[in-house]
Amino acid sequence: MNRRHFLKTGALLAAASTTPLSAQRAKPLLPKNRQETPRVVIVGGGFGGLTAAKRIRQLAPQAEVVVLEKRSHFFSCPYSNAWLGGVTSFETLHRDHFRPASTHGYRIVEATVTAIDRSQRRIESSAGVLHYDYLVLSPGIAYDYTPLFGDDREKARAVYEQCPPALIPGSEHLALVRQLRALKEGNFIITVPPGTFRCPPAPYERACMVAAWYDRHNIKGKVILIDPRTEPMAKPKGFLHTFKNLYPDRIEYIHSAQLTGVDPKSREITFERFDPQALDFVPRTLPYAVANVIPTIRASDLIAKAGLEHDEGGWARLAGPHHQSANDDRVFVIGDAQGEYPYPKSGQMANAQGKVAAEHIAARLVSKKLDPGAFLPFNVCYSLTQSDPATGIVVFHEVSYSPKDGIAVRARDTTIPDRKTAKATADWFGGIMDDIFL
Ligand SMILES: Cc1cc2nc3c(=O)[nH]c(=O)nc-3n(C[C@H](O)[C@H](O)[C@H](O)COP(=O)(O)OP(=O)(O)OC[C@H]3O[C@@H](n4cnc5c(N)ncnc54)[C@H](O)[C@@H]3O)c2cc1C
Repeated sequence: MNRRHFLKTGALLAAASTTPLSAQRAKPLLPKNRQETPRVVIVGGGFGGLTAAKRIRQLAPQAEVVVLEKRSHFFSCPYSNAWLGGVTSFETLHRDHFRPASTHGYRIVEATVTAIDRSQRRIESSAGVLHYDYLVLSPGIAYDYTPLFGDDREKARAVYEQCPPALIPGSEHLALVRQLRALKEGNFIITVPPGTFRCPPAPYERACMVAAWYDRHNIKGKVILIDPRTEPMAKPKGFLHTFKNLYPDRIEYIHSAQLTGVDPKSREITFERFDPQALDFVPRTLPYAVANVIPTIRASDLIAKAGLEHDEGGWARLAGPHHQSANDDRVFVIGDAQGEYPYPKSGQMANAQGKVAAEHIAARLVSKKLDPGAFLPFNVCYSLTQSDPATGIVVFHEVSYSPKDGIAVRARDTTIPDRKTAKATADWFGGIMDDIFL
């Protein structure tokens, strides 16, 4: 797929951002920045963006920091599978933006960024125009249904609403929980997307939480994972152990399978799988009561719109582990939207990368340049496997860097679910929320 085709079709669900700038939007949002008060603008008030905002203010109190976020409040994807499985409440996942902004002295503006003119260091948003000295982009991901449905937007819209992917916070998660809570019988099918996607363990953890819900509520039916890979993309040993030992008759893991269609009217999913005996791909159709169809995942289209170097998936290219864009030293890209390094796309990683970028920006503001590898991120990612009693598994990622060999990421994961890890999951979530919001 070439860049033009991607720009045309890739941002299917973010089409609103192509609206021409109205007179209202052309008004200044804030007066032009002055030399004595450098301005750092952050696009995206999620895991990466809010972390960067707090850390820049801590390290460079002379800087004005403005976060542009299109949502009215924060809704966490991490730990949302625990809510789906009935382990935690809806309220646990939500925070207001106002408290961290006033505690740390940054400004949060509820606005959608529509264009970025890097030559003028100027941003256009639904709330007006503003200029920056440094820009941090942490806009996350977008869905791309074109590999499944081509240009049939109606079909994509119907599948998005009826089989919500729930990888971007909002109504999708609410709809999925509503559907599970109403279920009396039938299959719950989860389709794992090909390629890179947000939170590689999420679909497999989701299968465990749904299976636990089925068991607790005596729901007849199976939880079916359809995956193009040969084994789970994350924590393969732990998830395969869990499927086999905790849910032998409940979870069906169909690997090496390509999703070919979804019919929300007949409530059927079709896929094909290579049959080694027939030496051919064999099509198969399964009925569902609830389907969680996760399409191909790409970076937010803001990366391409800003003219930043990116790969086929729209993921931003970087000049080094300091998260500076490959083609603009005033722009830093953090979180899921970066594609330079094989970092897992996680909230923990986005949080750590926000701190890395903040260190470099704070140094630049006092005319210092740090070594690009001076600060590195790390990752720890927990997944719940059972709900009552709660158990879990975990993976740690260590990052190392040398100018000659670049970045290396080493993973260490657990296989046998235990209660201690479920307790650590809740503690990790509380800890990262406090780190961002207190
Ligand atoms: C089900 C699930 C479970 C997960 N579990 C874990 C876990 O256990 N541990 C873990 O570490 N990670 C987990 N993750 C992954 C984690 O949610 C993401 O990796 C993390 O949110 C990435 O942070 P980010 O800042 O890049 O993007 P986000 O947190 O998504 O923030 C991007 C923000 O940008 C805003 N935005 C986008 N475009 C615009 C625009 N044009 N104008 C203004 N604002 C805009 C969005 O509204 C959003 O708030 C999970 C994800 C899912 C879906």
